[in-house]
Amino acid sequence: MNNKQDILAMTLDELEKFIDSIGEKKFRSKQIYQWLHEKRVTSFYEMTNISKSLQDKLNENSIITPIKEITKLESQDGTIKYLFELIDNNVVESVFMTYKHGNSVCISSQVGCRMGCKFCASTIGGLERNLSASEMLGQIYEINRISGKKISNIVIMGTGEPLDNYDELIKFIKIINSEQGMNISQRNITVSTCGIIDKIYALAKESMKITLAISLHAPNNEIRKKMMPVANVYEYDELIKACKDYVDITKRRITFEYSLVKDVNDSIECALRLSKVLKGILCHVNLIPVNTIEERDYRHSNSETINAFKNILEKRHINCTVRRELGSDIDAACGQLRRSYNKSNL
Ligand code: SF4
Repeated sequence: MNNKQDILAMTLDELEKFIDSIGEKKFRSKQIYQWLHEKRVTSFYEMTNISKSLQDKLNENSIITPIKEITKLESQDGTIKYLFELIDNNVVESVFMTYKHGNSVCISSQVGCRMGCKFCASTIGGLERNLSASEMLGQIYEINRISGKKISNIVIMGTGEPLDNYDELIKFIKIINSEQGMNISQRNITVSTCGIIDKIYALAKESMKITLAISLHAPNNEIRKKMMPVANVYEYDELIKACKDYVDITKRRITFEYSLVKDVNDSIECALRLSKVLKGILCHVNLIPVNTIEERDYRHSNSETINAFKNILEKRHINCTVRRELGSDIDAACGQLRRSYNKSNL
């Protein structure tokens, strides 16, 4: 990128300062912002209502971070998984899904991940780097451009731990939510975390109306530690307390993600214990039949076990659903497409 500024990652305030710094009038910022985030051009020379000299100046001093589709896999259920190449040749994946309530895109927030969750393919090669806000936006803009479909929901649940890339995440949310941009309601944005407690408190203070999803996956610290190394750093009880505090501060319902793994966390005792832990919290539990990953020995719980688990929670008034398996015919589990691409390009 040389010393060029990442213009796509600038909030409107930041863009105004940048425009001022290159000696241009502030009112140009809004026009440029709309070109970038509403019309989503990929070159300054497509900005037809600004002068050629300003186009040149923008081109000299900044860059519209490129992102390029390498491949895509389409499922029979309408799910499309995209693999994108970034400016430094790293690759990330994103998933387009259709629901009754609208189209949703799940994006990556990092190249790889350092969190080491045992059920996840994204972490196998470790963390390569954080994504910039522009690269997070780019995944959505490109999918919108390629598919021509309206996107109404965003889920930051692909590769990476979003709260491990906090500042870029917040910028991303502000830009995607802005009126002069895609104007996606904060209520339609879900951020998923494996439980970085200090960042959960920071997020609570942002006063955003987003949905926070916690990858919980266990009813106690002992089992959680086996599945998620992050539990060695952040104690289970402290995480649950942070979740309660988050709900108190934001008044937003929290989501708990619980991947059911055969003989690891899917017993009746686990369901009973989980019900106790979550009692009284304004929450929703997403039960996820775990995806089988070649490199791990985790297996899918059977449907009887899944239903029994769900019934126990429901009987104790814990709101829960079993996540519909989308894209199972195209390996839509997080990190799998990127991993097979990297393997075949070694
Ligand atoms: S589940 Fe999320 S946080 Fe855990 S390793 Fe995978 S990408 Fe990272």
